[in-house]
Amino acid sequence: MPVYEFRCQDCRRPVRLAFTFAEYGKVQPVCPHCQSANLKRRIGRVAVAKSEDARLDAMMDDSALSGLDEEDPKAIGQFMRKMSREMGEDMGDEFNEVVDRLESGESPDSIEAAMPDLGNAGGADDFM
Ligand SMILES: [Zn+2]
Repeated sequence: MPVYEFRCQDCRRPVRLAFTFAEYGKVQPVCPHCQSANLKRRIGRVAVAKSEDARLDAMMDDSALSGLDEEDPKAIGQFMRKMSREMGEDMGDEFNEVVDRLESGESPDSIEAAMPDLGNAGGADDFM
């Protein structure tokens, strides 16, 4: 079912509603926040780009980091794993190894010493 993006003209909130193609145009969309029918259709591509930015902002903002104990390798590892999952990207073997080591409690300094190529583009194959 395709999802359509609207903005509520009354409470100004973005609204996402799923309609079948048959329903769209026949069913009156209603704001789930304030029950207003005064919704304005948004342009899909712009909406997608904006929500992507918002997602990254939400991920990187201070509140996401404030709970993070930088002295705790496990916490850092879990944070990095969560971040890569939200990015929806495979960050590569090097990244995964660092996360595994952090989550097993190894300190970042020790990981850096064990993986001298860390961060070097193209160096990922050297320690395989
Ligand atoms: Zn509303």
